[in-house]
Amino acid sequence: MNYAMALNYQNCINCKACETACKEENGVQLGADKQRIWVGITEGTIFGKPYLNLYPSQCNHCIDAPCVSVCPTYASHIVDGGIVKVDPSKCILCKGCMEACPYDARFVDDTMVAVDKCTFCDHRIDEYGTTACQATCPTKVRLFGDLDDEDSDIVQLLKTKKFFFQKESAGTLPKLFYIVPDNESYARQSISHNTVIHTWDDFKPKYDAARDKRSKEWKR
Ligand code: SF4
Ligand code: SF4
Ligand code: SF4
Repeated sequence: MNYAMALNYQNCINCKACETACKEENGVQLGADKQRIWVGITEGTIFGKPYLNLYPSQCNHCIDAPCVSVCPTYASHIVDGGIVKVDPSKCILCKGCMEACPYDARFVDDTMVAVDKCTFCDHRIDEYGTTACQATCPTKVRLFGDLDDEDSDIVQLLKTKKFFFQKESAGTLPKLFYIVPDNESYARQSISHNTVIHTWDDFKPKYDAARDKRSKEWKR
């Protein structure tokens, strides 16, 4: 298994239901700067017309996760399914992982006195098959699933749509897939020009190779 999330980001209305559900489901510390999930906003103009893009975001559960590589105590680790986690009992709050993450996906939970981040709700996958943020989103932005299962809804979606990643050039092999809307020319103009747009066929071999190499380090 190799869990991932696809995001129809153009459906996001920034209602923050996902943030609320995440806090409730996972007992995340209260506070605006204590988030496992957030919505990034970019604004600009295309031929004089203003646009605004909302990018729902959370930990990318990167295959080549630098937060795991730098952790001196193995508090940050990858479990089965390619989910990046933190063991709070091993965290010494050196914050190396926070520095290493290109996505700013980690924060200090003062109640646990440890770094915290999205877990892909791994405690509820067996029972519900999805995450609290996907289950709550009123506009169906998210689709959680297994990249290794050819029949999964996420693979079926990625086979029929183009997609891109945030900050792919950071080289961490992220697993949040941003779905290119049907109006592709708009998307191309409103995302940064060095963003690469992928198809399933060009993406799959690269990720399979990385997964085969790194999955030996995944722990139960
Ligand atoms: Fe680590 Fe950041 Fe990647 Fe999450 S997004 S796995 S915290 S580097
Ligand atoms: Fe590891 Fe905690 Fe340091 Fe992050 S802050 S690198 S999880 S020990
Ligand atoms: Fe929060 Fe779970 Fe969504 Fe991660 S997958 S952002 S932990 S609700």
